[in-house]
Amino acid sequence: MRAVPEWVGKHDDSRIPDRVRLRIFLQYAGRCQCGCARLIRIGEPWDLDHRQALINGGEHRESNLVPLLKEHHKNKSKQDVAEKSKTYQMRRRHYGIKKSRGKPMLGTKASGWKRKVSGGWERR
Ligand SMILES: [Zn+2]
Repeated sequence: MRAVPEWVGKHDDSRIPDRVRLRIFLQYAGRCQCGCARLIRIGEPWDLDHRQALINGGEHRESNLVPLLKEHHKNKSKQDVAEKSKTYQMRRRHYGIKKSRGKPMLGTKASGWKRKVSGGWERR
């Protein structure tokens, strides 16, 4: 059993208290968790990152947070966004959602209508 209860954010944008930041930092022995496992030196800027990004269903809680060097964090954020769009594509495919086949926009070739210079519409 843990001596200290896990910190869980009330909201996704809840501020992480300093004691929790420190706890997570120590838990990972002050090493960047982007995969490089580099020691974060004193004074080097670092962030807490969600191991599983919030946009990918991760939770804002201590067990989902890891220390990352600020410089490395940027790269990971890009990966998270890439993963999100991949997940989204897969989900779309899974549910068979295709591009909506609504009416084509007026004025496009597909609509069969053309905007007249004088205003109004005419058949293409
Ligand atoms: Zn790193």
